[in-house]
Amino acid sequence: MGKPRCLIIGGQFSGNFCARELKTQFFCTVVDAKEYFEYTPGVLRAFVKPAHLDSLTFTLQPVYERKMGVKFIWGEVKELDGDKKTACIKTMFSNNLDSIGFDYCIICAGCNFGPFKPMGESLWFPTVHEEARAVSDWKHIDERFLEGRRRHVLEEYQKLHELNKKKSTVLVVGAGFIGVEWATELEHFFPDLKMTIIDFLPRCLGPLPDGAAEYCSEYMSATGIKEFYNCKYDPKNPEFWKQIELPNGADETYVCIGVKASNYFMPKCTLSDKGPGGGGWIHFNKYLQVTKKPSEGGGVWADGSIFAVGDCNYGCIGEPGNWEMPPVPKISYPGEEQAYHACLNVIKLSKNNQNLTKTWWPWGAGMFATSLGPHDACFVAGANENKNSGYMVNWWIPAALQKEIIETSKIDECRDRWVGILIWRLDVFYIYI
Ligand SMILES: Cc1cc2nc3c(=O)[nH]c(=O)nc-3n(C[C@H](O)[C@H](O)[C@H](O)COP(=O)(O)OP(=O)(O)OC[C@H]3O[C@@H](n4cnc5c(N)ncnc54)[C@H](O)[C@@H]3O)c2cc1C
Repeated sequence: MGKPRCLIIGGQFSGNFCARELKTQFFCTVVDAKEYFEYTPGVLRAFVKPAHLDSLTFTLQPVYERKMGVKFIWGEVKELDGDKKTACIKTMFSNNLDSIGFDYCIICAGCNFGPFKPMGESLWFPTVHEEARAVSDWKHIDERFLEGRRRHVLEEYQKLHELNKKKSTVLVVGAGFIGVEWATELEHFFPDLKMTIIDFLPRCLGPLPDGAAEYCSEYMSATGIKEFYNCKYDPKNPEFWKQIELPNGADETYVCIGVKASNYFMPKCTLSDKGPGGGGWIHFNKYLQVTKKPSEGGGVWADGSIFAVGDCNYGCIGEPGNWEMPPVPKISYPGEEQAYHACLNVIKLSKNNQNLTKTWWPWGAGMFATSLGPHDACFVAGANENKNSGYMVNWWIPAALQKEIIETSKIDECRDRWVGILIWRLDVFYIYI
């Protein structure tokens, strides 16, 4: 009998992990709507220093097909049929849909960012979905191609360059880790910009510990970035602009808040009605199997052979006050840990073992490295769903170096190269203990 077939939707952090984990025991097929891997946590730097994009990206096909030995399809999954176990895929350069069958499927399709855009569009994730491209602010660029992404990065860089020349005012909305990183990158690489950052919370970095928030605030204040907290973004209200000392408005605004679901290919019965960005997240159970939403009974969808991991899923199980698993932050490390749990369960099911592994709140979900320009950063470990939890365990140049080592070694691992694999496998052994 041949090996079972496993379809992996999305080829970034969690999809890449699944392919490496399952490639020997399954015929794996990875589908991704774009042709390249991009290390999202480093992409802010690419917009202020475009040469950095090359070190963050690689084309997926050679790595998946030649190095890992799995099949790669460059195309968008448009529909997943759980009963027939088929996926309809619109491959590149084709207007028709291809249907492919599978025995198991792991959905690693991530999410979008940017709540004020109809399909959630931001600089941070390339615009790849057909529906999103139709209403994109950068329709003239096709970010499914690495060259398209490069053009977008260069366009934004040129824009920033011009703004800097004019000593323009720039507003960053949201002082979570992304907003803080973006404001400090802009300040460092374009020192003539007049930077302001706001948040509706009383301080920066959201739920992370006070020590880390104070550290970042001190950095921003020392570099002349104006901060305003307890302040709601209300661009149509002149009082808002006066309150943040920009009575004439800002020359440019970057909204750095809010994830938005992009699971357009999933049947509505599996998607949440609620949640960040208006819902649309894939419901799942303790075994990471896709389930129906509670109003549809909440049972396992299809026959339990379809799993959802990483940013695409609902992120929590249960209700506030009665969590089975509290909300997991949408960052890469927990996505990979969930991917590992899903892989274990796919392997078990393929051996007719119904004693599935339960997932848990991944310890890696409490680690946040926030960069403050290229030479400073702070690293928090042990954060959980409670406000002000965790500890700032590393900061200043050592934390900036740590962030660079994470970036380089992680990309190396995703390229299936031995140095990265060795570094992260040792770490992963530690998680599994
Ligand atoms: C600016 C920024 C900074 C960040 N910094 C950090 C950090 O420092 N540390 C950290 O841990 N996390 C960080 N994150 C979060 C991290 O990038 C995400 O959690 C991580 O990328 C999620 O991995 P994933 O594999 O679940 O999904 P993604 O990385 O989103 O990958 C999903 C893939 O699926 C593909 N796809 C989607 N839909 C389809 C479809 N229908 N058909 C085919 N393919 C599809 C997409 O093209 C994409 O390649 C940051 C995020 C942002 C935006």
